[in-house]
Amino acid sequence: MTKTIQLNTTERDPELWAIADSVVDPEIPVLTLVDLGVVRELKRMDKGVEVTITPTYTGCPAMDAMAADLKRAFEQKGFEPVTMKTVLSPAWTTDWLSDYAKEKLNKYGIAPPPNSTADKNALLGKPKEVKCPRCASNYTSMISNFGSTACKALWKCEDCKEPFDYFKCI
Ligand SMILES: [Zn+2]
Repeated sequence: MTKTIQLNTTERDPELWAIADSVVDPEIPVLTLVDLGVVRELKRMDKGVEVTITPTYTGCPAMDAMAADLKRAFEQKGFEPVTMKTVLSPAWTTDWLSDYAKEKLNKYGIAPPPNSTADKNALLGKPKEVKCPRCASNYTSMISNFGSTACKALWKCEDCKEPFDYFKCI
């Protein structure tokens, strides 16, 4: 199931989106800010460019770095001034991660968040399925809700006994 939210797909300016897609998450360097769904809109202005972003969650400590990196990327390509806009609504959810992005996360050793259907299992009292990124076992347990960064929780695989990060932003 592919559920990627793409705003203004038809109006996407390939040059602008390619620049944004070159900026990676400072904490998860395999994902670009476009993969993450953080970049919402890119608009060419009379002069420069307007960049609209939605934080992964309010107060995410990496957001300032992401915004600064994006601004710099456009400036380096000659876009000036770069106007940064932040839109909080609709709020970012992990559903905005593309399947491709989830696959990249998994290869990087971070368990991607389950899709909404899997989350509904939690509402029905079933445990959340978090797959070990190394051996794909579902026999996993949470060690700590706070991993190496605020966006990750620390989990452990009971089969291969390896700890791994779980991308937990909702
Ligand atoms: Zn494992």
